[in-house]
Amino acid sequence: MKTDNPAFGNFIDKMTELISSAKLEAEIVAEGKCLLAELVSNQSWLPENYRQSSSQSYQQFLLYCDPEERFSVVSFVWGPHQTSSIHNHTVWGLVGMLEGVETCDEFELKDGMPRYSGVSHQLLPGQVDAVSPAIGDWHRIKNDTDAASISIHVYGANIGKVRRIRLGEGNCLEDFVSGYSNQADL
Ligand code: FE
Repeated sequence: MKTDNPAFGNFIDKMTELISSAKLEAEIVAEGKCLLAELVSNQSWLPENYRQSSSQSYQQFLLYCDPEERFSVVSFVWGPHQTSSIHNHTVWGLVGMLEGVETCDEFELKDGMPRYSGVSHQLLPGQVDAVSPAIGDWHRIKNDTDAASISIHVYGANIGKVRRIRLGEGNCLEDFVSGYSNQADL
């Protein structure tokens, strides 16, 4: 996506500065949350082609990848009642709610398997959540509503290329690489 869009370009500039100067993941997460909250406080900046849901599954459109792959920004679009697998990230991640409502079920590893922690929380427009191996890396995201939802995710890598783990069919852990829904256009 073009970074000459003022709100998005400003966010990318500030994230790039942050990534270049911060020494600790905790600094990136704390400051990145504020930057992302500002970005999702208004939703007019996101073009229509990055807002399209699919009846097949939730969509993940790459909006920007840092040239050194230190961070990436992805628009996730969930159709009504679509859900993710139970999965991890392996790097820090921020989730900013742009439109609609999503529910996050938190999981923790026990004996090598992700188990539901008993904690779930809702994300409403303007709110920002964080994940990472240091603060809790396993979750499942659901859109439990009858309307589409859109959230903007920022990760500490080119997330579409990262080898991760999810709970697959038959309750077995499996490696996966998510790629992007707009892979063909990149
Ligand atoms: Fe996730």
